[in-house]
Amino acid sequence: MTNEKRAWGVYVHIPYCVKKCAYCDFVSASMGTETVREQEQYAAALRAEIRHAAPPLFTRWGSAATAYFGGGTPTALPAHLLTGIISALREAAGIPEEMTVEANPGTVDEAYFRQLRAAGANRISLGVQSFDDALLRRIGRIHTAAEARAAFRAARAADFTNISLDLMYGLPGQTLVDVRESVCAALALAPEHISVYGLTVEEGTPFAAAEAAGRLELPTEETAEEMYDYLVAELPARGYLRYEISNFARPGYESRHNLGYWRSVPYLGVGAGAHGYIDNVRWENERDAAAYIRRVTAGEDVRRAEDGARTQTAAMEEYAFLALRTAAGIDEADFRRAWGTPFEAVYGAALPPLVARGLLRRADGFTALTPRGMKFGNEVFAEFLLY
Ligand code: SF4
Repeated sequence: MTNEKRAWGVYVHIPYCVKKCAYCDFVSASMGTETVREQEQYAAALRAEIRHAAPPLFTRWGSAATAYFGGGTPTALPAHLLTGIISALREAAGIPEEMTVEANPGTVDEAYFRQLRAAGANRISLGVQSFDDALLRRIGRIHTAAEARAAFRAARAADFTNISLDLMYGLPGQTLVDVRESVCAALALAPEHISVYGLTVEEGTPFAAAEAAGRLELPTEETAEEMYDYLVAELPARGYLRYEISNFARPGYESRHNLGYWRSVPYLGVGAGAHGYIDNVRWENERDAAAYIRRVTAGEDVRRAEDGARTQTAAMEEYAFLALRTAAGIDEADFRRAWGTPFEAVYGAALPPLVARGLLRRADGFTALTPRGMKFGNEVFAEFLLY
C-alpha cells in the first residue's frame, strides 16, 4: 500500500563503452573479448538489484516518476539485455512517465531504437559532442558527424519525440567557428533538448597526461569564454530555454529526471558505480563491474554510504548548491520545509552583496542566479559555503 505519494527516480548505470574517450573519467570500461559474457551477467545482476531495491520504494511512494539509463554507454549492451533490464524496472518500480536512455552514435540503428521504444523508453539522450569529424577523432569518439545525424534520424523514425543532444566546447583545437557550425548542425535536426558542456581535463585521463606533457592545445580562456557567450545567447534565441547551467530545452521538454537531482528528489541508483539518494542519505555502489556482479550474486550489499557523518549543515549547503544550478533557483518555502529553518536565517547575510553585484536575483520566494551569476557561478557558490 502506498502511504506517502512522492516523486522519485531510478538511475541505472551501464559501465561499458566500445572504446574509452580521451577526456572521460566516468565509471566505464572499453569492451574486450570477454565482455559479452560479462554483460549478460551484469544485466542479470542489475535485474536482481532492481527487484530487491525498488519494491519497498514503490510500496512507499508509488510508481517511480522517472528513470534514466546512463553510463558508460547503455546502448553498448545488446538490445535484448537493455530491454530485459527495462522490463525488470517496470515490474519493480512501476511505469515511469519519463524514461531516458543515453545512446551513442555508432552503437544504434532504427531497429535498436524500436526495441527500446517498445520496451517503454520515451526519451533519448544522444552523445554527439561535435559535428566536426576531425574534432571527434581527436577526443576519441567512435563515430562521425554523419553517424550522429543517422542516429538522430533513426531515433525519430522509431517514434522518439523527445530527443536530447549533448555538445561540448573548449575542446583541443576547437574554434568559435567550429562551435557555431556544430550548433547549426544540431539545430537543423530540431531536437527537443540540448546540453552543452565545457571540457574539463580530469585527472587520470589521456587528456590529463597530454596536458602534463604540454601536448594538449586547449582554446585560450578568452576563446572559451566567447564560445560560452555564443552558446548561452544563441540557444535561447532559437527557442531553447536555459533551465539549468548546462541545459536548454524547448518549453515542456526539460529533463524531469535531471531536474529531480537539482531539486533533491530522492532516487534509487543501481549498477556499478551508481549513486543514490534516499532519506537524505547518499551512497555509491561498488564501482568495479566484476566485483559488483560477484557481490550482487552473493546477496551482498553493494552500497557504500558517502556521507555517514554528514551533518544537517552540509546537507543544507548541498541542497542550496544543487537548486542554484537551475534557472528557477532555490524555492525558499521548500527550503524551510526541508530543513525546518528559514532560508533567510541561513543565507540572509550572504545575499545582498551578490544581488548588488548582479549575480543573484530574488523574487516571489525564489533566489536564483542571474545570467551573469550562471557565468561566474563559482563566485556565488563560494558565498553559499557554510563552513
Ligand atoms: S562514450 Fe561517454 S562514458 Fe564512454 S568513454 Fe566516451 S564519454 Fe566516457
